[in-house]
Amino acid sequence: MISFKNVDKHYGSFHVLQNINLTIEQGEVVVVIGPSGSGKSTMLRCINRLETITSGSLSVGGVEVNDKKTDINRLRADIGMVFQHFNLYPHMKVIDNITLAPVKVLGKSKLEAVETAEFYLNKVGIGNKANAYPSELSGGQQQRVAIARGLAMKPKVMLFDEPTSALDPEMVGEVLDVMKTLAREGMTMVVVTHEMGFAREVADRVIFMDHGQIVEEAAPAEFFANPREERARTFLSRLL
Ligand code: ADP
Ligand code: MG
Repeated sequence: MISFKNVDKHYGSFHVLQNINLTIEQGEVVVVIGPSGSGKSTMLRCINRLETITSGSLSVGGVEVNDKKTDINRLRADIGMVFQHFNLYPHMKVIDNITLAPVKVLGKSKLEAVETAEFYLNKVGIGNKANAYPSELSGGQQQRVAIARGLAMKPKVMLFDEPTSALDPEMVGEVLDVMKTLAREGMTMVVVTHEMGFAREVADRVIFMDHGQIVEEAAPAEFFANPREERARTFLSRLL
């Protein structure tokens, strides 16, 4: 579903991604961890071309992300993204936040888009908030709206960049529960997170990044019990 082959990226003279090789299968849940500044967000953002790679090859569903012939809007419609800071439109009701892209990008009728939006709002447990504005919701509820908005596009892949990092602790669980459900239902997911409990329970694979490189890649049970790399061991010991 997602394939990085010898991918490098520079910000000016700064080599932020260094020879990234990574293949993610359909239905796989990959958790990306690593110190701040190691390139996790950049790697995620390259997948939907919010950032462009400098060299190498990156494809999603067999489509080369950086090919001039690739219809980027169509590709992005297949890739849902959830950010740390929700990024909802503050002046729009929840329902309008969710129906906007299906109507504008997918050409759905308003009626169909509203039905789909209501389905996903129920799925994330806030079916009663359709007519609220984002500012009237808690952080956990806003993040669940953001997830529903992503799902309403019926994407092939969902990317999560520290989706619970901006939440009060009591709201982290409700967002992780939604993500666990998605994972169980077979969604292909790439999740940058510091929630090691989630990684242990849900991930098929854990990727540890440092200084723009994938330093270690393993099944969670193996990774947490016995990280091979010194940098991964140091990182984990600091989390405890
Ligand atoms: P992480 O998500 O792991 O914290 P990032 O991918 O956000 O790391 O950033 C990796 C490095 O690239 C950091 O040193 C950051 O300062 C730098 N960086 C991120 N975005 C830009 C940018 N647009 N221009 C220049 N440097 C950037
Ligand atoms: Mg980041």
